[in-house]
Amino acid sequence: LSDRLTSTFKNLRSKGRLSEADIDATIREIRRALLDADVAVSVVRDFTGAVRERALSAEVSGALNPAQQVVKIVHDELVTVLGGTARPLQRAKTGPTVIMLAGLQGAGKTTLAGKLAVHLREQGHTPMLIAADLQRPNAVQQLKIVGERAGVPVYAPHPGNQGEGATPGLSAGDPVAIARAGYETAKARQHDTVIVDTAGRLGVDAELMEQAADIRDAVSPHEILFVIDAMIGQDAVATARAFADGVGFTGVVLSKLDGDARGGAALSVAKVTGQPILFASTGENLTDFEVFHPDRMANRILDMGDVLTLIEQAEKVFDQQEAERMAQKVADGQDFTLADFLSQMQQLKNMGSMKKMLGMLPGMGQMREALDNFDEREVNRIEAIIQSMTPAERDNPKVINGSRRARIARGSGTTVQEINQLLQRFEAAQKMMKQMAKAGPGVGGGMPTM
Ligand code: GDP
Ligand code: MG
Repeated sequence: LSDRLTSTFKNLRSKGRLSEADIDATIREIRRALLDADVAVSVVRDFTGAVRERALSAEVSGALNPAQQVVKIVHDELVTVLGGTARPLQRAKTGPTVIMLAGLQGAGKTTLAGKLAVHLREQGHTPMLIAADLQRPNAVQQLKIVGERAGVPVYAPHPGNQGEGATPGLSAGDPVAIARAGYETAKARQHDTVIVDTAGRLGVDAELMEQAADIRDAVSPHEILFVIDAMIGQDAVATARAFADGVGFTGVVLSKLDGDARGGAALSVAKVTGQPILFASTGENLTDFEVFHPDRMANRILDMGDVLTLIEQAEKVFDQQEAERMAQKVADGQDFTLADFLSQMQQLKNMGSMKKMLGMLPGMGQMREALDNFDEREVNRIEAIIQSMTPAERDNPKVINGSRRARIARGSGTTVQEINQLLQRFEAAQKMMKQMAKAGPGVGGGMPTM
């Protein structure tokens, strides 16, 4: 997915303003890429439609070139579909908060129970796990091990129960009764959270759904988390729909994000069910767990590093009015003066703080090169030099002869050699501005390199 998008954006990068044909070509690539990533067909259609509409009506930003603008639109749209900003878990007003886990067998529910317990413990909560998966012979034992690692008690059925929350004599075969008894025990022991692990099947089936629904009704969860393997592919939509209809859920956990899955399932599930993705599971260890960040997931889908962070910063830092003034000057064929030169250097200085991120931004090669050779102290020197010039010298540097150079060097605390260097660089920049004026507006994203 990402490689394709990157190459699409590369094609756009060299162009000026986006035309409808450009946008449609991009949309075609995005559509194909999303389908390759196993995003559901209906989701792809909606998604590309929204991107197209926004791209067509997008205002041209001074800070971004058209390709970057499309990246931003695609990204923003991805974030919207993935649920905007991550939300925290809902909590009970009184008594234990009940979190129920649902999903197919092997999705990663039991593993998640432990991760979630650690996460909650770190936040000062006192979770207890409830083993309501009595389907697989080893399921209870597996949860006990998970609980031990996570350092939280596990409520499990008798017999063969060594868990802390054991209730001797309770029927071993009834997950609904276990869930209910577990909840009561947690309440009595003043745990503020219970995490109910449930059984899954290899495929969606009615009995499983019924059992999950019964457990739900027994414990009235504050959150039902649907756990889904990120590698599930096109089955994501059908599975998510089945759980949404059969049990209902309030949030999604995307597991096995440590694999190669690019996130197609995330996009499908979020779009089709409208439920937010709350967490991501990224490995077999308890610590391989993170709060889900829609913006990061969008980046993962686009695979463009911190591009978007950079784009946002560039928008903030870049002085829109100054850029427009400069563009106007160029368009009018006016002379590019030392004062303009200084103003550009100062803008570069603002961007200097983003230098590291620029490295991750494709298509910013020119700018990056400029920043690579860029030293903040140098701008200060240039400022001093230009301020030591008379207005006449600034307007027309050609008059700056040897004795004037020596005076300016003294005045700015620099050397004649530095004055020479500056004037050379200015001349090069001036030449470039003239070339840009000839090439017409919209070329080069408004900011020449020096
Ligand atoms: P459950 O059937 O839904 O309870 O799934 P489990 O929690 O038992 O997980 C099934 C298998 O997937 C186990 O071997 C886990 O170690 C593994 N697993 C779970 N979550 C992840 C994950 O995020 N990444 C990877 N690589 N493996 C995982
Ligand atoms: Mg399990």
